[in-house]
Amino acid sequence: MIDLGQLPPEGVSVDGRTGTLDLGDGTALRQATWQVRVMPSDADFFLEVKGSATWEGGCSRCLEPLDLALTVESQFLGSRDKELAEGGSHALGSQDLDVVFLPEPILDEEALAREHFLLHAPMHPLCREDCKGLCPQCGKNWNKGPCSCHPELVKEPGALAKALSGLKLNLEDA
Ligand SMILES: [Zn+2]
Ligand SMILES: [Zn+2]
Repeated sequence: MIDLGQLPPEGVSVDGRTGTLDLGDGTALRQATWQVRVMPSDADFFLEVKGSATWEGGCSRCLEPLDLALTVESQFLGSRDKELAEGGSHALGSQDLDVVFLPEPILDEEALAREHFLLHAPMHPLCREDCKGLCPQCGKNWNKGPCSCHPELVKEPGALAKALSGLKLNLEDA
């Protein structure tokens, strides 16, 4: 915990390590290491979060298990001033920094690091750029070879695409 009311002029830097962090949805971080730096900047605080971890989850197309190296690095301004924080960003020197509202005088550096790992966790990770995904008919992983489904069936637009094209026609009729 960092006491923002007792911050020395040169600031504070805290290193940490979090074993395994379960992110929900079957994904997790392993071997997360991080560093949180806080420096006073007038009435506000300059914050820096750096970290690295191994993200464990699955390919969003073929669902095969997947490990990715995840790095986090961000700088922002923390403020006790709610109005400044609601303003969005604030210029500090040559940098335009996001402002985060810090209502509490005590900063939980581990929670802050965890939040930044979550923000940087991949949303649609792929095992490889050209992952072919799964056959929508039989569920076979096309990276491991073609299936015996009819290609016409596979190419047929999904229910949503059909519904959308129907909607478009109705609009044109009106
Ligand atoms: Zn894949
Ligand atoms: Zn198939």
